[in-house]
Amino acid sequence: MTNWRYDIFRRAFIVFLACFAVCAGAAAKPSVTGLRIGSTPESTRFVLDLSSDVKFSVFTLADPYRVVVDLPDMDWKMAKTEADETRGLIARYRFGLFQQGNARLVLDLRNPAAIKQAFVLPPQAGAGYRFVLDLEPVGRDRFMASVQAPVPERSKPLAEIEPAPQKRVDGRRTVTIDAGHGGVDPGTISADGTYEKEVTLAAAKELKKQLEKRGRYNVKLTRHRDIFIPLGERVEIGRREKSDLFISLHADAIANRSINGGTIYTLSETASDKEAAALASKENKADIIAGVDLGAGTPEVAEILIDLMQRETMNYSVEFASILIPRMERAIAMRTNSHRFAGFRVLKAPDVPSVLVEMGYLSNAQDTKFLKSSRGIEQIASAVADAVDAYFDRHDARLSSP
Ligand SMILES: [Zn+2]
Repeated sequence: MTNWRYDIFRRAFIVFLACFAVCAGAAAKPSVTGLRIGSTPESTRFVLDLSSDVKFSVFTLADPYRVVVDLPDMDWKMAKTEADETRGLIARYRFGLFQQGNARLVLDLRNPAAIKQAFVLPPQAGAGYRFVLDLEPVGRDRFMASVQAPVPERSKPLAEIEPAPQKRVDGRRTVTIDAGHGGVDPGTISADGTYEKEVTLAAAKELKKQLEKRGRYNVKLTRHRDIFIPLGERVEIGRREKSDLFISLHADAIANRSINGGTIYTLSETASDKEAAALASKENKADIIAGVDLGAGTPEVAEILIDLMQRETMNYSVEFASILIPRMERAIAMRTNSHRFAGFRVLKAPDVPSVLVEMGYLSNAQDTKFLKSSRGIEQIASAVADAVDAYFDRHDARLSSP
């Protein structure tokens, strides 16, 4: 074999090896190809069709009644990641990527139920591997006895967080952008099947791009992909990065489908109005939706206590909100009372000014269309980026004035 021929052969072989590694890697991720629920008065059966055998763990959570199934990271072939269910004991189910690379399936139960059995069935009679979960109705007492002792929230206490890198060596401000929801927590779902978690991620990435273009900021995202991050962890990311500003992006839903427009929220112990209180309570349930057991003593909306340090931070948050609103008004329709406040857990960092931007309503067809369009996302990102500039310009001017 001449040298050049050998070289081509060698290169082809390397390409073949690379393909083999990639294909083998892809094959290593099991997939879920189907999902079925069947019920009789005595039991409800939940089945997943799998490409291979998997390890799993199942546990129950109370108030609301839930069954949680943890699985390895899976390739879910289904279009919807959340659905209502009318049969048997299951009222609704959802699945998606949970933290640290495992997938999670959460079943919301209509009534308390016991896990009768859960197993993976090997292929037989033409069917492949199947995960089978059988539930049977039980009383509340028996359900409560099955619930394990609460596991504390995964968030580490702040003292355990590794020291942050030296701040602003390059003179840049740090802005953390939080794409609301993700993974097993889809957020709000529009009538046409648009998920809030997708809209928020697209907006966060666009805002990051626009802020970076301005050359003044280090921009961090709390998530880069479709993955669940607990609320406490989002707050921690903002603090760990020594952020000068934390912006959480969301899209709301409301029973009245004609209501549209954006709203800016800041933290407060008491809510500005009933609607704001209801929204905070809904947004604060993200961890419950994802099947995180919060244990006892989880701060409810009304119990969010605000310390002195936080009050100063809150003034900055309000200042940013007031700078943001007129810029948002140029980009999109805003609700009347466009600045509202309530006890949002994600805004709780005592030392990072934080705002939550509801970019519009996924319950409104017009807003949904806008939020799904790249033009809509660009306009919103540009308004927020302008406000970030104006906010820090004002701070710099204050610092340089005698
Ligand atoms: Zn949300």
